[in-house]
Amino acid sequence: MIPSAELLHLADNVIDSLETDSSQYLTEDSLLKLHSIFSDTLILAALDLIDQRKVTESSTPWGFVEYEVLGSTATHIVYIGLPKTLMPSYCSCPAFNLTVLETGQSLMCKHVLATRLAIRLGLCVKQQISLDYLATSISQRYRG
Ligand SMILES: [Zn+2]
Repeated sequence: MIPSAELLHLADNVIDSLETDSSQYLTEDSLLKLHSIFSDTLILAALDLIDQRKVTESSTPWGFVEYEVLGSTATHIVYIGLPKTLMPSYCSCPAFNLTVLETGQSLMCKHVLATRLAIRLGLCVKQQISLDYLATSISQRYRG
C-alpha cells in the first residue's frame, strides 16, 4: 500500500513553501511545518546529508536531470518530479522500497527528502555529465 495521494500532495506543498533566512538555513516556521509531516529522525538525517554536501544534481548534455545521494554504503539514485505516476519521486535505496512502496509507512526516504530540500535550498552539488562519464557509470551500475 503506497501513501495516499493527498498526503503526498500535502508534503509537496509543504516542501515548496519552505523558506530560508539570509544564511540559507530553514526558518523556524519552515522547520515546524516539516515536523508536522515528517519524523524527527527523517528530517535530521536529510539535513545531515545536505550539510555534508552529499546531494548531487547531475545533468546530461540533452537536459536530463537525475540526483545522486551518497549514502553510507552506496550511492542512491533519486528521481524527482516523475510525471503522472502514483509516486512523484523514487529512490533506489532499500528503505524506499520497504517503507514507502511496500508498507506505505513513510512518504519518502531520507534521500528523497534530502534531495527535495537541497533543491529548495539551492544546496545541490551540481555536475554536468559527459557522455563518457555516463557510459562508465551505467556500466558500473549494472556490472554485478
Ligand atoms: Zn532512499
